Amino acid sequence: MLPFIDLNAQFTRLEKDIRARIDAVLAHGQYVMGPEIAELEAQLAAFAGVRHCIGCASGTDALFMALLAHGIGPGDAIFTTPFTFIATAEVISLCGATPIFVDIDPKTYNIDPDKLQRAVTALQENDPAIYPLPRNAEHRTLHGEPAVTAKAVITVDLFGLPCDYDRINAIAQKEGLHVIEDAAQGFGGVYRGKRACSCGTIGCTSFFPAKPLGCYGDGGAVFTDDNMIADILRSILIHGKGEDKYENVRIGLNARLDTLQAAILLPKLAVFPEELRQRQRVADEYTERLSDLGSLVTPPSVPEGYESAWAQYSVLSDRRTDIQKGLQEEGIPTAIYYPKPLHLQTAFSFLGYHKGDMPVSEACAARIFSLPMHPYLKTREIDRICACIKKIIEK
Ligand SMILES: *Cc1c(COP(=O)(O)O)cnc(C)c1O
Repeated sequence: MLPFIDLNAQFTRLEKDIRARIDAVLAHGQYVMGPEIAELEAQLAAFAGVRHCIGCASGTDALFMALLAHGIGPGDAIFTTPFTFIATAEVISLCGATPIFVDIDPKTYNIDPDKLQRAVTALQENDPAIYPLPRNAEHRTLHGEPAVTAKAVITVDLFGLPCDYDRINAIAQKEGLHVIEDAAQGFGGVYRGKRACSCGTIGCTSFFPAKPLGCYGDGGAVFTDDNMIADILRSILIHGKGEDKYENVRIGLNARLDTLQAAILLPKLAVFPEELRQRQRVADEYTERLSDLGSLVTPPSVPEGYESAWAQYSVLSDRRTDIQKGLQEEGIPTAIYYPKPLHLQTAFSFLGYHKGDMPVSEACAARIFSLPMHPYLKTREIDRICACIKKIIEK
């Protein structure tokens, strides 16, 4: 079986450096907040072009910390996409706030700015005819005030492609919303000269092994240019600490990145720019070979001025089941991200959304699937995968 993501090829290449870095941690023994953390944070901040980077325990914690740093809680409404991994919206509910889902653009699979504006207006006007709203957002207090107030939008750079930040930031500025960028899949991507994690007020990423920049366990990071928010994030990271560990000035978490994971990430970050170029090569080779299939298989599209980090190479097809089965028989793995949009998940049934509320996400969920994608995928392997797809659909 061809690997869907080949972590071994990368390890073989970096083994000497990674082992040396792990040995150094074993020698100094500072497993929690060791020197590798600050070293990595400085390099990540420089890479993303952002003043502050704070390592943390996962992408989920990064998002949770971002919401806490903005003081999000009960009574607040946070707009986000339903076509993402559960973590994006889960943290909104964990804070006690209300997620309001906004459908995606059919070409980029990212949150649609026009629909975001409509959803914001629908909430202000308390009119779900303008845009579908969750059940509790339609309620008014006894004084006629909205039960929830718009506070932020969590954008997701899905499959590695940044969102349309010029338009999203313009809406956010007009409506007084924070923009939290979920770049768990997008780290390394570029939007009009800006790196992912620098496009909103706070950027979040994940170092889960399968992400473009992955460690050997769980890990994540938060990014911001705002000095005050950075201080708050560093406090939330360690139990709401003040001047020292035993002075606690707010309710926080234990969300630290492990020193060992930081040590593992340092040699990986050194080759990351080159790996991003290899991911781009793989994507280009796929697209070149699949582009003559017309509407049978739709390759991803990257708008002018954007660069994807290519966390996934995802295509649309009405023949998804046939193609996945045929590829499986040839030892070629595929995956579906995501089979069920979040507004239809049981976990969010309390919001009262219905099938048909987010038609673009629902249509994509029924047709999308992802092909093997990693920097070490060879041209001849891509040739074989694409030839198999053509054979299957010609049958
Ligand atoms: C992976 C992922 C997360 C969560 O990251 P973890 O490190 O697994 O907690 C959040 N959002 C998106 C879009 C993701 O793909």
